Amino acid sequence: MEIIHTIEVRALVELQKKDSAIDAMTAAVAGVPARIAALNAAFTEKKNSMSAARQALLALQVKKKDSELKIAEAEEGIRKHQRDLNLVKDNNAFKALLTEIENDKKNKDELETGVLFLLEEIDKASVQDKAIQAEVKQMEAVMRAEVAALEASAKELAVSLERARAERLAAAAALNPELLDNYENIRSNKNGLAVALVHEDPSNGKFSCGGCHMSLTPQKTLDIKKHDAFAVCQDCRRLMYLEKTVYGEKV
Ligand SMILES: [Zn+2]
Repeated sequence: MEIIHTIEVRALVELQKKDSAIDAMTAAVAGVPARIAALNAAFTEKKNSMSAARQALLALQVKKKDSELKIAEAEEGIRKHQRDLNLVKDNNAFKALLTEIENDKKNKDELETGVLFLLEEIDKASVQDKAIQAEVKQMEAVMRAEVAALEASAKELAVSLERARAERLAAAAALNPELLDNYENIRSNKNGLAVALVHEDPSNGKFSCGGCHMSLTPQKTLDIKKHDAFAVCQDCRRLMYLEKTVYGEKV
């Protein structure tokens, strides 16, 4: 059938609008858990970077502690060897002790230079650690607020959905059952859109189907201007209507 005559054009257009709104709300509600999960994942990633920064700081502090222990050992070695200097009589043993003391001192100097370097590194790591902690804290507050807003909007949507579904049921019940059947069949095959608004290109006055975007044939261009009728799209078989035919000229 290339044209469907019915006095319920406007009622069916309204039903399609209700169904499209319900579909959009249903999709929005269904998308909420994924959006919350994405927020949580981003936050977990940030927390991981926080613990990495903390680990880096702790590792530097351990390294510094270790160097300080080695410095203390070197100092102890120097003291011991200096005491021993007074006890040895043998010249070679005396020289050997002096060499030991020299080595310990050299070792101690190197360790102390290392500690100075570590102190600088610890300062930098500490700044980094604090900055990331502050970022995490801020991000957590933002994330919590976003999750709360999403949950609240999901609740509101659920309420609106319930109301919209009730209204839709009543509107559908008032329609001619055959027309409704036809509508439901097309809707289930055409991704939820059975009744498509026809678009008019202002630059050339050409009409196209709002469902499949194909240009209308000259015959269809005439059909969509008829009252109390849907023109069937020659390409997608959706029921097409022209806004000004159904609702009158816009003021
Ligand atoms: Zn079409």
